[in-house]
Amino acid sequence: MRILITNDDGIYSPGIASLAKVARKFGQVKLVAPDVEQSSMGHAVTHSRPLSYKKSPIEFPDVEAYRVNGTPADCVAMGTHLWNDVDVVLSGINMGPNLGNSMWHSGTLAAAKQAVLFGIKGIALSTPVGDTEPNFEALEPYVEQTLDLLLKDKELALYNVNFPAHPTDMMWTRQSVRLYDGTIIPGTDPLGRKHYWFTVSPLGPADEGTDRWAVENNLVSITPLRLDLTDEAVLAKKLMDQR
Ligand code: MN
Repeated sequence: MRILITNDDGIYSPGIASLAKVARKFGQVKLVAPDVEQSSMGHAVTHSRPLSYKKSPIEFPDVEAYRVNGTPADCVAMGTHLWNDVDVVLSGINMGPNLGNSMWHSGTLAAAKQAVLFGIKGIALSTPVGDTEPNFEALEPYVEQTLDLLLKDKELALYNVNFPAHPTDMMWTRQSVRLYDGTIIPGTDPLGRKHYWFTVSPLGPADEGTDRWAVENNLVSITPLRLDLTDEAVLAKKLMDQR
């Protein structure tokens, strides 16, 4: 199996190293990831300047690593250009959760989406980060179990996986859809100029069966996603009204 790995935290993130270590048990692995952090870049692609890549000095045994001056989606395009017949794109392990509404902004998930747009299975993997770095070594058995489960299936698919800090089991979930308070917090820089932070927190508790609920209950959340955003119920009603 040919496994292309990328992320949005950049090639030097400990999360991508941990994922590469586990993925090697499942096949050949190449890393093609952004040279600097690209978190919350969503599905942006670079079109107004050329892309370039450099072989990264990071030493993974039997793994080539390349850093790209672009977004996570660019890295999937570059990775599949450099390497034919990729079977799956893994994105992560992101330092920070990608639950519920944050899927809209996630660069981690965008890389997996880009893979599916190319006809390749895409899996995004994330974990929360607190005051200390995530304990990736402790997560490894759960990452392996998840890959074992999701790589067996040969169907083209898109999955969003979130690991709690201390998992006890896994759960199939749906996306938590809640409105959030997109609050702008003003501040001042050292020269006294005004600047602003855009902060995001969900309004209301998570419903049972959702990705947020699973992670709050120490369960690995696996959400199957699709690219078609069409609201089928509204479309059916509009087509009916038109008659
Ligand atoms: Mn990130």
